[in-house]
Amino acid sequence: MSADTLSVSILPGVGPQRQRTLGLLGIETIADLLTYYPFRYEDRNAKAGRELADGARVTVRVTVDGMPGVKYRGKRASTTMVPVVTEDVRRLHAVWFNQPYVKDQLKPGRKMTITGKYDAKRRSISVAHHDFVVAGETVHSDRIVPVYEVKADITPKILRNLLAHAVKTYGEQVDELLPMILRQKYKLLDRCPALQQIHFPKDGEHLHQARRRLVFEEFFLFQLKLQAFRWLHRHEQPGVSHPIPEEALATFAERLPFAMTGAQRRVAGEIVRDMQSPVPMNRLVQGDVGSGKTVLAFLALYAAKVCGHQGALMVPTEILAEQHYRAAQELLEPLGCRVGMLVGSQKEKERRQVLAEMESGDVDVVIGTHALLEEGVRFRSLSVVITDEQHRFGVEQRSIFRQKGHAPDVLFMSATPIPRTLAMSVFGDLDVSVVDELPAGRQPIQTYWITPDKEERALRFIRGELVKGRQAYIVCPLVEESEKVEGVVNATALYEMLKDWFAGYEVGLMHGKLKAAEKEDVMRRFTKNEIQVLVSTTVIEVGVNVPNSTAMMVYNAERFGLAQLHQLRGRVGRGEHASSCILMSKPDTDAGLERMKAMVATQDGFVLAEKDLHLRGPGEFFGVRQSGIPEFKLGDLLQDAKIMEVARGEVQECLRAADFWTLPSYQPLVHYLKREKVLLQRAGD
Ligand code: ADP
Ligand code: MG
Repeated sequence: MSADTLSVSILPGVGPQRQRTLGLLGIETIADLLTYYPFRYEDRNAKAGRELADGARVTVRVTVDGMPGVKYRGKRASTTMVPVVTEDVRRLHAVWFNQPYVKDQLKPGRKMTITGKYDAKRRSISVAHHDFVVAGETVHSDRIVPVYEVKADITPKILRNLLAHAVKTYGEQVDELLPMILRQKYKLLDRCPALQQIHFPKDGEHLHQARRRLVFEEFFLFQLKLQAFRWLHRHEQPGVSHPIPEEALATFAERLPFAMTGAQRRVAGEIVRDMQSPVPMNRLVQGDVGSGKTVLAFLALYAAKVCGHQGALMVPTEILAEQHYRAAQELLEPLGCRVGMLVGSQKEKERRQVLAEMESGDVDVVIGTHALLEEGVRFRSLSVVITDEQHRFGVEQRSIFRQKGHAPDVLFMSATPIPRTLAMSVFGDLDVSVVDELPAGRQPIQTYWITPDKEERALRFIRGELVKGRQAYIVCPLVEESEKVEGVVNATALYEMLKDWFAGYEVGLMHGKLKAAEKEDVMRRFTKNEIQVLVSTTVIEVGVNVPNSTAMMVYNAERFGLAQLHQLRGRVGRGEHASSCILMSKPDTDAGLERMKAMVATQDGFVLAEKDLHLRGPGEFFGVRQSGIPEFKLGDLLQDAKIMEVARGEVQECLRAADFWTLPSYQPLVHYLKREKVLLQRAGD
C-alpha cells in the first residue's frame, strides 16, 4: 500500500484528539499531511551574538549561564528571565512573558537555540514559547523553518514535528505522478525530494525548485481532470448537430438594425461552427460591456429553432430577463420564432402556460431567470443553453441548466473579462471567444473622479444632459435609511432629495426591495424616456440597455469593486452620444484610491480586470466558490500563470497520444483519474 492513503493516526503522538484537530485542518491521510504546505518560511539560521540587529527577529545559539528568575505582576502576568551567553561569548538575557513554567527547563549549562526579538539597549531577546528549542532539534531551528496554519492543540511545533517525521518515514514511499519525460523536459525535481524540500528547504534555491515542481504537478493534475473529462465525453456522448442553412444566417443578419462588428462576425462564426458539429459546444464568450454579446446569444437561439430544436437563455435578474425578452421578440418573432419568458414573479396561470408551451414545443426560445432551473421545467427538445453574465451563477446551477437538454450546446456570456491567458488556461475545458471590438460610432465615456464637496456641480452637469434630451443614472450603495451606515448614501433618501433638485423632470427609484411588478414598471418607463433620472442601487449593474442614457453618477464609489464600477459605467455610452461617468468618493484605503485612478485612466475592461486581479488576488477576483475554480494549495494563478499554460499544453499532448490510457508511464495518471472519479469504467479496463 502506498503511504498516500495511510491515516495520520499511525504517526507517533497522534491520538484521537489530535487526529480530530488535524481533520479540521483537512489532514486525514499521510498524503494530506505531506501536501499541507507552509504558508511562509522563516530564516532561523543561527547568528553570532555580534551580528544581532536591534529590533530584529533573530535566532541565536546560547548556553544558560545562571539561575532563572520569575517575577509576577498580578495573577497571570509574569516575566521569566535568565542570563545566557552566545557562542561568541556575548552576554544576553533571554526573556519569556507569561510562561513561568519554562523556568524548569532553564538549568545552568544547558545549550539551546532561541528565536525572538532582540532589544539592543536591554541586551535581551524576548522568546515566544514555541521558539525555544534545545540544541540538536534542527527541525525548528538552525535552518529555514516552515510556518504552517495551525489550530488548537496542534501547535506550530507539534505540526512541524509531525511533518518532519512523515517526510522522513514516508517521504520515499509517495507515488510519483508526473511521467519521467516531463520531469526531464522541464528539469523538475522528483516528487519525493520536492516534498522534502518544500517543508524543510536546504536553502532558497532548493525551495524554489521544490515549489516549481509541485506547482507544475498541481496545475497539471487540474488540467488533466478538466481535459480528460471533456475528452471522455467527447467520444461517449455525441451532442446535437445543427445543420444551419446559410440563408438562415443571412436572413438573421438582415433583420438586425446594424451591421455586426468584425469581432461579432468572427465569434458568430465560431459559435455556428461549434453548433454544426455533433460535439457539444462548450464556449465562453467574453466581451466588454457594450460589445454586443446579446445578438450572438440570439443568433444561437435562432439557429436552434431553425434546426427544429429549442434554445434557452438564462440571466441573473428579472429586469434583464424582461429586457432580453422584449428584444428577442422584436428580432426573432418576425423570423418565425415563438419567444417565451419564465421568471419567478409570474402569475401561476401565465407560468403554467409557458411551461406547457415549452414542453409541447409551442415556444422555440425561452428567456428566463433561475426559474428555469426548477424541477417542473421541461423542454421538448432543448439543444442550446446560454447563460448570460455567467459569473452570477454557481457551478451547480449551470450544471442543472445543462441537464435540461440532452448534451446540448452550451454557451456562456461574460462581461467580467478574465485576462485572456488566464481564462484560456484556467478553463482548460472551455473554448473562449473574445468580442474585442466595440460597435462603430461609440463615443468614449469620460470618467471623472470627484470628492463629495463637488456634488452640486456634478448634479448641475447632469441637469445639463437632461436639457439636451438625455437620461441619467444615479447610483448609490444602500436601499433605505434602516440600513444606515455612517456617511453612506441610501437610494430612498437620495430619491426624495433629487425629486426636488430635478424639478421639471421625472425621477424614478429602483432597488432590489421593490416588488417585481414595480421594478418592471419603473424600468419600462425609463426605457421609454418617461423617466429621465433613475436613482438606483446596483440592481442595474448588469445588462441594462437604455442607449439614450448618457450620464451616470455614483455616490460612495469607494464602496464598489473595480469590476462592479466598470459594469455600472457600462450602462452609459451605449448610443451615439458622448457619455460621462462621475465617481464621487473619498477613498480611505490605498486600494480604493487605486481603483478610482484605474477607472479614470482606462475604459478597457481587460486592463481593469487585470488590475482588479492584482488588487484583490485571484481567489476573490474569481469569486472562487461561485465560478467553480478551485483554490490551489500552492499555485498562484497570477504569479504562476506561465506554468498553468505549459501544463495545459502538456496535458493536451498527453491526451492526444493514442496510447495514453495504456502506456505504463501514464498509468499513475490514469489511476489518479480513477481515484478522482473522472474516469469511471471504460471498456477493457
Ligand atoms: P453587452 O455585450 O454588454 O451585452 P449588448 O448586447 O447589450 O452588449 O449591446 C449593447 C448595445 O449595442 C445594444 O443597444 C445593441 O443593440 C447595440 N449593438 C450591438 N451590436 C451592435 C453593432 N454591431 N452595431 C451597433 N450597435 C450594436
Ligand atoms: Mg449583456
